[in-house]
Amino acid sequence: MIIRARQVVTMDGPPIENGAVAIEGNRIVAVGPVLDLGEQVLLPGLINAHCHLDYSMMRHAIARPKQFTAWVQRINALKRSLDSADYLAAIRRGFADLQKWGTTSVCNIEAFPELMTRLGPSPVRTWWFYEMIDIRHRITTDDVVAGALSFFQHRANSLDSFGLSPHAPYTASLNLYQLANACASSFTMPLTTHVAESTEEFDMFRHAGGVLYDFMTSLQRPMRDCGATTPFGHLWSTGAIDSQWLLVHMNTLLEEDFQLLAELPRGAGPHVVHCPGSHRYFSHPPFPARRLHELGVNLCLGTDSLASTDSLSLFEEMRMLGAVEPWLRPEELLRMVTVNPARALRRRGQLGKIAPGALADLIAVPAPGSLGGVYEDIVNHDDPVSWMMIDGQICA
Ligand SMILES: [Zn+2]
Repeated sequence: MIIRARQVVTMDGPPIENGAVAIEGNRIVAVGPVLDLGEQVLLPGLINAHCHLDYSMMRHAIARPKQFTAWVQRINALKRSLDSADYLAAIRRGFADLQKWGTTSVCNIEAFPELMTRLGPSPVRTWWFYEMIDIRHRITTDDVVAGALSFFQHRANSLDSFGLSPHAPYTASLNLYQLANACASSFTMPLTTHVAESTEEFDMFRHAGGVLYDFMTSLQRPMRDCGATTPFGHLWSTGAIDSQWLLVHMNTLLEEDFQLLAELPRGAGPHVVHCPGSHRYFSHPPFPARRLHELGVNLCLGTDSLASTDSLSLFEEMRMLGAVEPWLRPEELLRMVTVNPARALRRRGQLGKIAPGALADLIAVPAPGSLGGVYEDIVNHDDPVSWMMIDGQICA
């Protein structure tokens, strides 16, 4: 219980104006001033489980594509036209957008680790996932090598953490996935990858055909792993990924994939990240939310990058998923941007909830209705978030 009074005389320091005393059992556990946020809902800061801040300047830059492969080629061309100053500006813009919409933690896939040394302290809690691709080697300059090495040493402040992200089964070899597994277990880092995103990726692995297959062949990717399995089956059955991974997309799953997941003990499955806005932009096959939910998979939401969605608002992402899957209650949607991603990042109890011992990452949004409709009111919130605390510091 917390008892508030206009003045609190503690006899343990000066009197406190507008103070409160927190009681647990028969003991006082905290005494201090009250910050009254008034007619607001106080809730945990939101966690974006998948984002590419590098591309925050590409909002509406690429028209909705007919083919996923054409989009990949288009963004690769756009990337070549930009320099490091553009990317640094993009990352800062992305951070501002995250904060605007109440996001206090983000899983960011970083394609330019060498930029890290030139970035100031992260304004929100950030997992910097080092993007790994070995289909076509980047031309490595001394700068890139030095930057990559300093990537994991660079800890601008306590809000930075690191992870590894082999890009996708069509751009990263099984060997690279194994290397990432070994490295992550030595350094206790989370792992994430894109998998089973598009029909073209599915056709490449299942049928050894289609536009992505042709494109990858033209890049001299060895294609012997194509023509039998599914993208998920390709990674899962070879042990390249396991239950600790955050698997982003998972749109094109077959019965045999669900079977692999069903063989796991309930709740021991991998973490799956769905990006509703990006999913809609690409018109991917329907995301099997219900099936994965019934299998006990830990479902999280991400925004993906501004190159394939309109904003970095997780409120918007919750609404988009809720519109397609009306059986998902607002409370469940909110879990996908709080406790579920906290669990995926192995920060259960520390992030995504307001409880003793948790980190002070909090946001407030207006409370227009009664307590009975509070989850719905949160999901429907559609304005910039006006109050935010990260790591105990008020920042908006
Ligand atoms: Zn992505």
